[in-house]
This record gives sequence, structure tokens and C-alpha cells, in this order.
Amino acid sequence: MTNEEIWQAALGEIELSISKANFITWFKNTSIFSIENSRVILSVPNGFAKEWLENKYNLHILRALRNIQPDVKSISCNIATSRELPTEQSFKPSLDAVIPPQNTSPTYLNIPKPIPPSLQNNLNPRYTFENFVIGGSNELARAACFAVSQNMGRIYNPLFIYGGVGLGKTHLIQSIGNEAIKTNPHLQIKYIASERFTNDLIESIKNQKISEFKAYYQKIDLLIIDDIQFISGKEKTQEEFFHIFNYLYQLDKQIVLTSDRPPKAIEILEARLKSRFEGGMIADVSQPDFETRIAILKRKAVTQKLDISPEALEFIAQNIKNNIRELEGALNRVLVSAQLTKNVVDLTYTKKILSDIISSSRRKGITHNHILKAVSDFYEINPQDLIAKNRKREVVRPRQIAMYLMRSELQYSYPGIGEKLGKRDHTTAIHAYEKIANALKSDEKLIEEINNLRDQLYLLG
Ligand code: ADP
Ligand code: MG
Repeated sequence: MTNEEIWQAALGEIELSISKANFITWFKNTSIFSIENSRVILSVPNGFAKEWLENKYNLHILRALRNIQPDVKSISCNIATSRELPTEQSFKPSLDAVIPPQNTSPTYLNIPKPIPPSLQNNLNPRYTFENFVIGGSNELARAACFAVSQNMGRIYNPLFIYGGVGLGKTHLIQSIGNEAIKTNPHLQIKYIASERFTNDLIESIKNQKISEFKAYYQKIDLLIIDDIQFISGKEKTQEEFFHIFNYLYQLDKQIVLTSDRPPKAIEILEARLKSRFEGGMIADVSQPDFETRIAILKRKAVTQKLDISPEALEFIAQNIKNNIRELEGALNRVLVSAQLTKNVVDLTYTKKILSDIISSSRRKGITHNHILKAVSDFYEINPQDLIAKNRKREVVRPRQIAMYLMRSELQYSYPGIGEKLGKRDHTTAIHAYEKIANALKSDEKLIEEINNLRDQLYLLG
């Protein structure tokens, strides 16, 4: 593997373990500068990145690198002057064009070719209808998207696709753009995440460039805004978006939106926008059934030239059900380790490689309630105290341990963990996880306790 391949593989893992915002902020424009004597020197764009990568993300990076090169001992960062970030402009291409968004599968399989900055539609050429697997869970959404790509602005306007994380929304809506430019390369297309749209808008207000901002959007033939739920509560964004929407709509320009929920469930969304969103076509994507999961895995295995047994694919499809991104992540992990060890990919090997992702908890149906019970029993405290706003020392530590276990055993998201523990902020959950993970490196008593708790959990479950 070249250094670039190693780094792409590592980024793929890191991307799955930290938030999208952090991933983009700190890992943008990084690369491996050199690897000498098991010491990896990274090239980073500035001092902030150096500081964060060397301190806060040191472990994440080491862990990811060691999965690929087990002998890696340490990392450090060099500031690369030639790779400074481009200066801020109000309409620079979304980062998604430079770094694949977290939505894409880990990037190590197809080393991304940077998209030239002149191409500002932000479409990722990887997302096409050809490599989208159709199943009952996405049939309607796929058909609607395809129809729109063939007949823009007329049949379904706006097209609104909603559904949970990692179910193919971004893939589908970008396919519309990629399909449409095939027949009409001059089409003005803009794909943008709603958060980015909001930021650009704020930026343009700050720089007194709001009329340029509007003019820019008014030129577009196909406007694709991803994760529109994030404009909830943002009045100014909603207002500007409403005007842009109406302007384009009246000219029969196509608008495509996605969200994690249907329009009526988006809180704090102006009524007039809600009714606009509901005025076109709404289609959902849901969790894929077993056959679709197998079909997706097969397709990816073939494209990646991975020789894997049918039993191994079934094992993955049986154990990873919720989310296509996770499905891809699991397959990628098998692929990467198979490349390194040159092992035949059979069921036994796959089970071994994925043992930590597909933990026994999933098979046993353990939930956060089991964890709360196990922790409160073990430390002899009232389970309510774990949830309550109680900062007493004898409660704080067990609470952190409960959070740690929800992450390590159940792979809950940090916001999810915060929510389950008395609606605490996700940063509290991150802090708790890191604190315990750190302590586990040296604190033998804690290791013992956590092992005990795990035993307890799997007995309970
Ligand atoms: P969402 O936007 O709904 O969170 P994405 O579109 O980012 O989900 O999909 C997550 C990953 O799964 C992407 O890499 C995407 O290419 C892949 N994917 C999702 N659905 C399918 C499908 N039906 N066929 C092939 N790949 C898919
Ligand atoms: Mg998405």
C-alpha cells in the first residue's frame, strides 16, 4: 500500500468514529508526510490541526493506523505550508466536493479523485442510479428521483425524500444531478447541505453580499438541498429560502429536498414552507430488507473485487440491519483486512474481523435499560440518580461508566446517550466516554469493574 492508500484507509475508519463536523474540520487537507521506523508523520494545514490531531485525536488516529499497519508506534504532525486552505470566499465549493462527506462509505476503496474547484455543483460522481440497488425499501423514492432526472421541473416539484440515516437519500438525490448532466451538460446544478446553505447565507449577510447570494441561486436549474431539517428554527434562512424557492418554482426549475422526517414533523418550520414542501411529491426510504441487504453487499463485493463466500455475506446481512452505511463499513473492513492478510474470506474470517462491531449485545437484545440496571445494581445506587441532575461524586462516575458502556457495547450515538441519561448534551457523553476509555488504560480496578459489568450485562441480556 502507498502512503496515500494507508491514509485513505485510516481516514475511512476515523470518519466512522467521530462527528462529521470534527472530521471535516480537523482532517481536511491532511496526508501522510512520511513513515519511518514505525513513526508516522502527518502533513497538516495549520497549527490548530497539528495541536488537535496530536492531542485530541492521537488515539483515534493511532488506532486506525494500527488496524492497517500494526507496527505503527506514534504519530506527529508537520505543518505543510504548500497546502494552506484556500481563502474564504462566499461561494467556495462545499467541502463535500473535496472530502467525501461522511455519508459516503469509508473512502479507502476508491481513492477519491479531487474534484476540480471549478466544478461547483458539488456532485459526487460515485452516486449514480446505476450503482444504486433497488429494493422494496427504496423503490418509490428511486422511481421518483429517476423520473425527475428525466423530466425536470414538471412532474414532481419539489421532490421531497425522507428517511433515517444511511439509507441512501444523498445517493439518490445526487444521482438525479449526475443523470441530468449526462444529457444536458450545461444545466446549472447545485447540491448543497442545508447547514452549508445556512452558513453561506450568514456569511453573505455579514459581507453585505446578500443580493449576490440570491442572484447565484436564482440562476440554478436544479437545486438539491440535503438534510433540510437543519433549517428548523432558523428564521432568516427559512425566509431567504422561501423566496429562492418561489422564484425557481415559478420558472419550473426543479427543487429536490431530503430530510430525516416528513415535512410536517419538522419542528419550527414556517407553515408556508411546510405547505410548499408538501405541495410536490413526497417519498420515503426505509430500512432495507434482507434480500436488498444481500444484493447491496454482493454488488459492492463485485465492484471491489472481493472474493467472499455467500455465507460470509449472509452473516453480515443478518447482523447489520439498520443502515446501509454500516453495511458498507462492515464490508470495507473485511476487504481491508483481507487485502493485508491475503486470507480467504470465509465465514470464520468474517466473524473474527467483525466481532467487535457485531457484538453479542446485538444478538442478545441488550438495551440502555439493561446497562442502567447493571450499573446501578453494581454501584448500589438508585437508577433514577443516574438520570437525574445529580453531581455527587458517587453518582458521577457510575453515570460516566453507563455512558461508556452504551457506546462500547451498544454503539449508541453520543446525542443518543445524552438523551437516555436525562437529556444531557452530547458533549457530556463524549467527555464521559473519553474519560473512562482513558482511565481504562491504567486503572486496574476500573478494568475489573467494567469486566464485571459486562459479565453482568450478558447474563442479564
Ligand atoms: P443518507 O443520505 O440517507 O444518510 P447515503 O445516501 O449517504 O444515506 O447512503 C449511505 C451509503 O450507503 C452511501 O455510501 C450509499 O452509496 C450507500 N447506499 C445507500 N443505499 C444504497 C443502495 N440502495 N444501493 C447501493 N448503495 C447504497
Ligand atoms: Mg445524507
